[in-house]
Amino acid sequence: METDIKKIRQDFPILQEKIYDKDLVYLDNAATTQKPDIVINTISEYYRKYNSNVHRGIHYLSNFSTTAYENTRETIHKFINSKYKEEIIFTKGTTESINLVAFSFGEAFVKEGDEIIVSEMEHHSNIVPWQLLAERKKCKIKVLPFDDSGELIISELENLITEKTKIIAVTQVSNVLGTVNPVKKIIEIAHSKNVSVLIDGAQGIQHTFVDVQKMDCDFYVFSAHKIYGPTGVGVLYGKKEILEKMPPYQSGGEMISKVTFEKTTFNELPYKFEAGTPNYIDVIAFEKAIHYVNDIGIHNIKKYEDKLLEYATEQILKIDGIKIIGEAKHKSSVLSFTVNDIHPADIGTILDKMGIAIRTGTHCAETAMQHFKINGTARASFAFYNTLEEIDKFIISLEKSIMMLR
Ligand code: PMP
Repeated sequence: METDIKKIRQDFPILQEKIYDKDLVYLDNAATTQKPDIVINTISEYYRKYNSNVHRGIHYLSNFSTTAYENTRETIHKFINSKYKEEIIFTKGTTESINLVAFSFGEAFVKEGDEIIVSEMEHHSNIVPWQLLAERKKCKIKVLPFDDSGELIISELENLITEKTKIIAVTQVSNVLGTVNPVKKIIEIAHSKNVSVLIDGAQGIQHTFVDVQKMDCDFYVFSAHKIYGPTGVGVLYGKKEILEKMPPYQSGGEMISKVTFEKTTFNELPYKFEAGTPNYIDVIAFEKAIHYVNDIGIHNIKKYEDKLLEYATEQILKIDGIKIIGEAKHKSSVLSFTVNDIHPADIGTILDKMGIAIRTGTHCAETAMQHFKINGTARASFAFYNTLEEIDKFIISLEKSIMMLR
């Protein structure tokens, strides 16, 4: 795969750009990934040649875009190996997918006094929707903690689950610690006690092979923009038998079967959860991103990215004063760190002037920060188009920045 990286990089126009007259080193892939030409060109081509609203017309263009839109559903269905195509629902992102489940699963299955478990390392979008549900239904949020290496303390799970527990919401990979969580084990424990599980795949889907049937999760959610696709598109996978029992999240066109002023009946899956005109052009372009990833092969991607992370970890530890935040045994593509008492934002600002894009702050994971009693980290996150040379540049520039700040 390494020999192909040069060629792969040519597919991503932004990687050819200069920042402050320097080659861009883009290490902010956990926030969003860059897009290959095929995705960018598809968006432009569809607006130029095929634009027409989906599902509503009998004319050529409408049928054309409807077919393309539904083809993406088919591709995602195969990509994550869901049992049925209609288990794939398009949303505008991970955040909306979780809000949909929190609302709609909450309406169907959660009542006063019930309990919901989230982990201590969740992104805010996998905490706050559950908190709102808890307020609405007067139920309780319980927290599965992690240890100082950043690994979930799975042995606590058995104690946390009671007969009132309705759902566990946990991330597959932490966006701040890089921890790859043992989601299969969590799901096994939960299911042995009749508890449903939502897996936040926002940082998992782009780095590792996902088979939702093997994983046996009840819900799996992710965003297209983190797997080389467009912004404004997300996926909610849910088991059909559960989705069928959940009421609609939003209402309007497309999600209905029949409307009268007396009563409305709802459309079948997946349309019941896709009210209004969907972001069909971006959904259509999203399919190209999945084909692109499939062409390289997710196993090749994982192997190469693991190597990047291992190399970056080795190199960064040679710098005096570095503390890595998140030292789990199984990690993926995320390297979070602090440097003595230097503010992460200062490091990020100086690196930026050197053409190196990293992210600093709490990464929308304040509870993870509270665990370490820190107010933020600097985070480099990798994708398959990054190179060992870029990591060398990052490390040298980081050393320089630290020297300047000391
Ligand atoms: N969960 C995790 C683990 C994430 O990393 C992110 C994005 N940083 C989200 C959820 C939210 O994703 P989005 O903003 O695309 O909805």
